[in-house]
Amino acid sequence: MDCYNCGTTLNRKTRSAEHILPNSIGGKRKAYNLLCKTCNEKFGRSIDNELASRLARFYTLLNTEAPAQKTNAAISSRKDGNIAQHDRFITAIKKDKSFSGSPGYFRAIAKICLNYYLSKGYPKQYCDTIKSFIRGEHTDPIYQYYAPENRPVHYPHENEVSHILHIHGSKTSGVLYAYIELFNMQNLVYIFSLNYNGEDLDVTYCRDIIKNEELTKNIQLDLSRKQLEQALASPSTAEERLFPRFERLMHIIENRITEAL
Ligand SMILES: [Zn+2]
Repeated sequence: MDCYNCGTTLNRKTRSAEHILPNSIGGKRKAYNLLCKTCNEKFGRSIDNELASRLARFYTLLNTEAPAQKTNAAISSRKDGNIAQHDRFITAIKKDKSFSGSPGYFRAIAKICLNYYLSKGYPKQYCDTIKSFIRGEHTDPIYQYYAPENRPVHYPHENEVSHILHIHGSKTSGVLYAYIELFNMQNLVYIFSLNYNGEDLDVTYCRDIIKNEELTKNIQLDLSRKQLEQALASPSTAEERLFPRFERLMHIIENRITEAL
């Protein structure tokens, strides 16, 4: 097995424990057959940090523990402090209805999709474009926010907050892509290949980050090559349509903080 980024042979000395989903947002599953130590650290310092700087706060806020002493003063300072710390960031999102992350943010999400795909042992030959995108070399978009107006791909249960990874490959349509939800509110499609000729694939991984367990989900998303091409070609308001999902997350966070106090 070789590092998918630099090709170094992975052995006991060179391999590393790469989290499929970053630790900073509650990812637990690791794989040793993806990246060498050097590449793991390099991505960790760059794009993974960028993703964490935007998203890790939500994981922290969801998992707020009650203060040791429930005095009124401790309670109110804790409650105000938790959200206030992130207030400027959250206010900006509410105003723009957008995360409009930097390129590094979208590269880090691409890496999550590729990590998942390769950890399943699926063929590497369809991954050149997404690899090059992760490195920052391929700059044309290979992703699109995905929020169909009438039919969400997935409805979380009440009070569920989860990350979802789904791979779809279809020999008939010739497409291979990943669908991802982070906190059920950053929902995107990443295209691996529009010349896919391999086996039909439909696999899903879901991690509930409040209950801290894996959930079984049946995700069905059958996009054609034409739909994928159109999604990339036309500027979309899909991110704005995800804004209610962001508000839902903030609502769950506020309830949990209040309950913990
Ligand atoms: Zn490497």
